[in-house]
Amino acid sequence: MPVKYQKPRGTADALPEQSAAFRNIEEIFSAEAQLAGFGQIRVPTFEKTALFARSSGETSDVVSKEMYTFTDRGGEDLTLLPEGTAGVVRAFLENGLAGEALPRKLFYFTPCFRYNRPQAGRLREFHQVGFEIFGADSFLAEAELIAMVNRALKQIGIGDAVTTKLNSIGCRECRGEYKKALVAYFEQHKDTLCETCNERLYKNPMRILDCKSPECKTVAKGAPVITDYLCAGCKEHFNALCALLTDLGVNYQLDAGIVRGLDYYNGPVFEFVTDQLGAQDAVGGGGRYDGLVEELGGQPTPALGFAMGIERMALLAEKCGCKFPKPDAGRLFIIPVGDETRPRCALLADAVKAAGISCQAELSTRSLKSSMRYANKAGFDFTLILGEDEVKTGRFILKDMKNDRELSVGGESELIAVLK
Ligand code: AMP
Repeated sequence: MPVKYQKPRGTADALPEQSAAFRNIEEIFSAEAQLAGFGQIRVPTFEKTALFARSSGETSDVVSKEMYTFTDRGGEDLTLLPEGTAGVVRAFLENGLAGEALPRKLFYFTPCFRYNRPQAGRLREFHQVGFEIFGADSFLAEAELIAMVNRALKQIGIGDAVTTKLNSIGCRECRGEYKKALVAYFEQHKDTLCETCNERLYKNPMRILDCKSPECKTVAKGAPVITDYLCAGCKEHFNALCALLTDLGVNYQLDAGIVRGLDYYNGPVFEFVTDQLGAQDAVGGGGRYDGLVEELGGQPTPALGFAMGIERMALLAEKCGCKFPKPDAGRLFIIPVGDETRPRCALLADAVKAAGISCQAELSTRSLKSSMRYANKAGFDFTLILGEDEVKTGRFILKDMKNDRELSVGGESELIAVLK
């Protein structure tokens, strides 16, 4: 029979096993956050549309083509988060964190929504873990973030499959000169560039470096590189960062093609890429965005951050054969014999769980044989059959499902001791 309802295109269900892989990744990043003093922030899943137009830039793909925007019943123009940073900056300002001690370090987990063409590794709803630092202008901040990501990837087991790519896109001043040089270069190749890149040639020529079309990629290879146009300040910051990363043992590659898709970046930008996920090669990325807090109405505040795609990290982990702890089937399954003992099963299960041991009582009124079959399939370590006799004598027979043996235990506390 065909399934009546199917999930919307570009979305995914994560069943318990996959959720366990996601949670494992989340726990690794949470632990890193704790070590470096990042506090978790939870912001709404939708924001006023104007926030993204303002922060991400009207010419970015995310804003111009990919946002899930709608008008609610009250006529408010809203958008599901396409990324995490804008909402965090909004919350940082709205809650007065800008007036507290800086730097302030925040991290988050959020679903993101982008209306794009779904393919392997590219969804319309996906999840990110992101870290942001506000009020830090030193290159030490970038180095801390990049080293942290590398440590987390190593713990997940995908460290060797991911390369850190690094570039600097300079400040407004360096970019002015650079953009002129880029326009002059791309003008000579107008006929080869795709339609979109022709449109952005004068509005935002750096985007062309980010284009995925093979023709544009080839043209982009010969383009002037931003690092030749950095001002003294940007150059110094970038060189110091590179030197520190080397000292920290971070394996990185300089790549002039890393420009990031959003308008708010400046200075060092980075991406964590893999060659094992086909076209969707970025597992994460970030950089400095010194102008964004001011753009959204705050005082000038140097800031930076990164976001990693949780599904892509999990996909890569699977490709790399990483083993995550499987969701626990359960230690004990208690099966009643006869309706009278059912409540006793619930009481015993409750006591075992109170002792911190996973335990389930049979919730269905099926036969003993079906219950046993279920316990076997579900993978419980032990089963316990509770009949009138057991209730009367207070002795239980504990069946060890993995080792095919039986143990006789006298009462609740001995049972708990044995299971522990
Ligand atoms: P971005 O803000 O585009 O750099 O995204 C940061 C990370 O989120 C990427 O490196 C991916 O790992 C992940 N990501 C971005 N877009 C998608 C998508 N459509 N589906 C799944 N993951 C995505």
